[in-house]
Amino acid sequence: MAFEDIIGHERQKRFLKSLMERGNIPHAFLFCGQEGIGKKRTALEFTRNLFCQTGTGCGQCRPCTKLDRGSHPDLVIIQNEGSIGIDDSRMIAKEVSEHPFEQDKRVIIIDNAEAMTTEAANALLKTLEEPPPHNHFFVITSSEREIPLTIRSRCTRVAFSPLSSEQLGEYFSHRADIDPARAQLLSSISFGSIGSGLFWLDEGNFSLRIKLAQALSKKTGGFVLASSLAERASATDRSASMYLTFLLSFFRDLFVKMVAGEASFITNTDLEDILDDTHGDPAWVEDSIKRIQETVRVMRYNVNRWLIFENLLIHVTRE
Ligand SMILES: [Zn+2]
Repeated sequence: MAFEDIIGHERQKRFLKSLMERGNIPHAFLFCGQEGIGKKRTALEFTRNLFCQTGTGCGQCRPCTKLDRGSHPDLVIIQNEGSIGIDDSRMIAKEVSEHPFEQDKRVIIIDNAEAMTTEAANALLKTLEEPPPHNHFFVITSSEREIPLTIRSRCTRVAFSPLSSEQLGEYFSHRADIDPARAQLLSSISFGSIGSGLFWLDEGNFSLRIKLAQALSKKTGGFVLASSLAERASATDRSASMYLTFLLSFFRDLFVKMVAGEASFITNTDLEDILDDTHGDPAWVEDSIKRIQETVRVMRYNVNRWLIFENLLIHVTRE
């Protein structure tokens, strides 16, 4: 693994390398951009280069080996499934007040930083305001607007763009060794994110996607079906967001077909038959798109994902 092995983000990698070469590394970075495109990986690679005895992330030396095993005491990673709370911030504050154990620097990565509670963010801000030396922070988020401005303003911002479909294609066909047709489909339905592509590579996820499309197409808005599909689709925050993105793309495809009568711009190329079989008026499509967008907003701040998803399905499968 090296910077070169990270797909895309050439400008960002050059910038980070130049900082390292000049020995002028800011004490805090904000890495922002869509989920699953390599932000955390880039931060980890930066850390390897920083800690490596040869300065290259050689993969052979003691620090590199420890990092690869996930057992380097000077790399602290905060990545909670739920929220990042005050205890996490206190732990960071305590950690950074001490001298690093093995390196002359310490790296603290806060992944999905938008999940910080207000309390946690305030406590982190105090640490960032008076940063003890030897510490470098990476605040990583796919939702920059949810990071308090007070924190953002203390960080050097590095924005990551979604990958191009060529870059995704390269990843899926060459690195992940997937057949070309499937790789092309994954590139199309992943919206620039390797992480999304890996999600759809899972057979269970992929087949649920098709079942959802079928339910929409036949408008089989039966409560039991909607409820069971919704339960599976909303099992985690991540899956709820993936299936909502899918639903949106499905209705956008319908819109393209209905309004433009044109199939060449559709995203879900494998679902063309289902799209063809789906009949409904443009008002239903437009209303469904609005409902899904609204659901995306509501879902962020609500714990009851299943209920919200079920409510959405019942509405969009009924004309
Ligand atoms: Zn090394």
